[in-house]
Amino acid sequence: MALKMGESYKVAVIGGGTAGLVTARELQREGHHVTIFEKASKVGGIWLYDPRVETDPLGLDPNREIVHSSLYGSLRTNLPRQAMSFLDYPFLKKEGGDDQRTFPGHQEVLRFLEDFARDFGLMELIRFGHEVIRVELVDEVNHEWVVESKTRETDSTWESKEEVFEAVVICNGVNTEPKIAEFPGRDTWPGLQMHSHSYRIPQLFENKIVVLIGSGPTAFDLVREISPLAKQLHQAIRTPGFMSIKSENYDNLWQHSMIECAHKDGKVEFQDGSVVDADVILHCTGYKYHYPFLKSDVITVDGDHVGPLYKHVFPPSLAPWLSFVGLNYRAVLFRVMELQARWVAKVLSGKAELPSQEEMASSVEKLYREMEMTGRSKRHTHRLQNGEVEYVSWLAAQTDTRLPRRWEEISFNTVIKQVLYCGEDYRDAWDVDKWIQEIHSSN
Ligand code: FAD
Repeated sequence: MALKMGESYKVAVIGGGTAGLVTARELQREGHHVTIFEKASKVGGIWLYDPRVETDPLGLDPNREIVHSSLYGSLRTNLPRQAMSFLDYPFLKKEGGDDQRTFPGHQEVLRFLEDFARDFGLMELIRFGHEVIRVELVDEVNHEWVVESKTRETDSTWESKEEVFEAVVICNGVNTEPKIAEFPGRDTWPGLQMHSHSYRIPQLFENKIVVLIGSGPTAFDLVREISPLAKQLHQAIRTPGFMSIKSENYDNLWQHSMIECAHKDGKVEFQDGSVVDADVILHCTGYKYHYPFLKSDVITVDGDHVGPLYKHVFPPSLAPWLSFVGLNYRAVLFRVMELQARWVAKVLSGKAELPSQEEMASSVEKLYREMEMTGRSKRHTHRLQNGEVEYVSWLAAQTDTRLPRRWEEISFNTVIKQVLYCGEDYRDAWDVDKWIQEIHSSN
């Protein structure tokens, strides 16, 4: 499926975070007419730290006011800044800047994204304070999409507006809608339960017995931050057959298997039989895909997975007029988003070609079948990790992009290896510049 070369379209980009900004830049480079809808008053998305927390700390109430960012006050990146650079726009340490660290604090990432937006003239394309509430295909033949957005008129009133676009790219982020652990007794347990989305500072946990569920990067950051204050910390880890152990690194940390059930008297029982009398359960259990504005019978969103999507980006029957950028995880994400954005932009301008709708649909079916045969859960559809290098190479080939030499040696898997080698203090212990020099000097 090839479009006419050099054609330009009126494209709506939903979201002004990393994915939205890099998408707008690539679309603009290809000569498209871009409007970015951003519900916040600034760019940055998740990197725009917000000290507010939601009224429902588990995020279950559908009528709660959503706080977009999931960052905690102390957050430093979990990738070195070299792995959060764009191809021709490196995330450099700013001369005289406040944060010269290789794994900087979140404010430094926001500064980088703001510079990126300013340097490429993206600010002028953004409608700040515009929350998209409906995206709907209204004319299939002419691929006309209505994008309805609302803006605040007064403290209590909103104004909404409809506009028509020829293509829409969805970049609304995947780290805002909490996914919480399921276990019997969860909803009647009397203590405080919250999701890490609503965690900002550790003081709330002072002298408390805390059960923390999860074993991803946020879970380990929060173990480190909470343990000096908490009375006891019990980490529940989803590894079958895991038996309780006392951590060697912390005086007050025990690691357990998953929660078996929570009792009305406040006790929490783990699958390995151990029991604690806890005050707080903190769910560090990730996020759900969520597109409340998308009116489409074609796309299924089940929280853990969005589909059908050809190569995580295009729904075959709506391609290339609808696309998603930034759905993946466990990868060097800025690079993936940049290449996905470039692919979308080049497909629209006729410089990259998509297979037929049938071929795309059968490629998605093939992926689902392979996942089923190898016992890989559908909830891991968008997890790249071992497939990262292949996927990035594929995107680069589609977009005629020359990647830097030895780029594949800076991937999620190689970074994780170094993190495990350096231990908990990896952000300060790991000499990343030396590591990169060694990569480049080896044959
Ligand atoms: P977001 O940054 O979430 O941006 C989405 C934007 O869309 C927001 O500005 C939002 O306001 C807007 N929006 C949403 N809905 C609407 C709507 N209806 N209408 C209008 N606008 C809307 N990645 C790394 O590379 N390195 C890290 O160290 C790292 N650390 C992380 C730590 C945490 C705790 C979390 C949660 C994630 C981390 N990530 C990290 C992943 C990070 O989320 C991605 O790297 C990336 O920044 C996501 O960009 P995005 O544009 O897809 O989403």
